[in-house]
Amino acid sequence: MNIHEYQAKEVLKSFGAPVAMGVAITSASEAEAAAKQLPGPLYVVKSQIHAGGRGKGKFVELGPDAKGGVRLSRSIEEVVANAKEMLGHTLVTKQTGDAGKVVNRLYIEDGADIDRELYLSILVDRSVGQVAFVVSTEGGMDIETVAHDTPEKIVTVAIDPTAGVTDADAAKLCDALELEGQARADGLLLFPILYDAFTQKDMALLEVNPLIVMKDGRLRVLDAKMSFDGNALYRHDDIKALRDESEEDAKEIEASKYDLAYVALDGDIGCMVNGAGLAMATMDIIKLYGAEPANFLDVGGGANKEKVTNAFKIITADPNVKGILVNIFGGIMKCDVIAEGVVAAVKEVGLTVPLVVRLEGTNVELGKKILNESGLAITAADDLDDAAKKIVAAVKG
Ligand code: GDP
Ligand code: MG
Repeated sequence: MNIHEYQAKEVLKSFGAPVAMGVAITSASEAEAAAKQLPGPLYVVKSQIHAGGRGKGKFVELGPDAKGGVRLSRSIEEVVANAKEMLGHTLVTKQTGDAGKVVNRLYIEDGADIDRELYLSILVDRSVGQVAFVVSTEGGMDIETVAHDTPEKIVTVAIDPTAGVTDADAAKLCDALELEGQARADGLLLFPILYDAFTQKDMALLEVNPLIVMKDGRLRVLDAKMSFDGNALYRHDDIKALRDESEEDAKEIEASKYDLAYVALDGDIGCMVNGAGLAMATMDIIKLYGAEPANFLDVGGGANKEKVTNAFKIITADPNVKGILVNIFGGIMKCDVIAEGVVAAVKEVGLTVPLVVRLEGTNVELGKKILNESGLAITAADDLDDAAKKIVAAVKG
């Protein structure tokens, strides 16, 4: 689960990290009062959407000369003018896709005098089985570009979970970021704070790009992107409350209500599969035969008829879906349960696209019988290869 920048900064502030004062607003009429709470004379008006690259983003509706999604403002009047222009408009950034995202919320922040922009992130480094810091002196720009052009400018420091951030780790990070004087003292305090926030809140990613050294020599978290491990959210009610469903895919929200592992994709073949591995293999084989999956969906091992019915409904509600492939290997999950769920769902929502079903495993004969006797236009497939060929052929006409 992702949260907005202003929320992430609130979380970091509660751990004692240096962030600027700021006020989040959802209507332009609040802009003046928000700015008046800040010291000035420099303010920043920041679009709050779940995507990065806002500064270089474009408000396409406002024409080619419009400024981006992060705007420095030198007076309260300018803050208000920027807020009026930005709210309600669609911002397209490198991370939003061409459709962009509507800016429904702004964060008005106390502006900083920047000396240097640095990069810092914390993530779970699976190659070493530890939480690791990734830092670079090249902040404020796309870290993928830095990794590609100047990989030597990226330094990784993995943290021993039993020791936490040691003095030696913190010194290594300060050296990598070329921090001296006050900035170094700030860094030595900040790195353990960020690590504690990351581990205590079960984050999957914390990216501070940029972390800045200000003209007065102090460090400040200028931008913050935070994602949480969905499987650990049950123990963080405070974080769960920060969820903004308007930023998420409606189909994914619906699927999460039924505890389905569902990810919406761009293709046109809807997939209903049990087991993440089989779901990945199914997506691969659809691509192999020249089509694109419309989703990843793992109904799980213990799915009942209701869950299968809801999964099927979510797939058919997607207007991009031109055909459906059900691929089940019955182990714990029984083929007859899947068959019953599919039949129930089709009876309820109708079937307007081709449906290919491949069943194998526990109660397969019973499952096939249920499908055959349903009178529905279902194409049976013998194996994964056959199933993929049949659904791709049906969709491509
Ligand atoms: P992003 O474009 O979505 O990554 O948004 P950021 O919060 O990282 O802001 C983009 C850029 O705007 C930063 O890299 C800075 O160069 C600039 N910026 C943001 N806040 C301030 C500020 O307080 N003062 C100054 N001078 N520049 C800022
Ligand atoms: Mg940024």
